[in-house]
Amino acid sequence: MTESIQRCPQCGGYLERIRRHRIDRLLSLFVKVRRYQCQNVLCQREGVVRVHDSLHNKR
Ligand SMILES: [Zn+2]
Repeated sequence: MTESIQRCPQCGGYLERIRRHRIDRLLSLFVKVRRYQCQNVLCQREGVVRVHDSLHNKR
């Protein structure tokens, strides 16, 4: 499984996966999301990225 590196849409910096908030867990009941935070200290943009279900993982 390849995981593409997410880039900040605002500054183009690298995004690091961070612990999800409670709202994200609720949201994940419907859509799988991952929360990222920009590594740029001047930006620190937070955002969720929707994870597409891989057909290979389904049974
Ligand atoms: Zn950024």
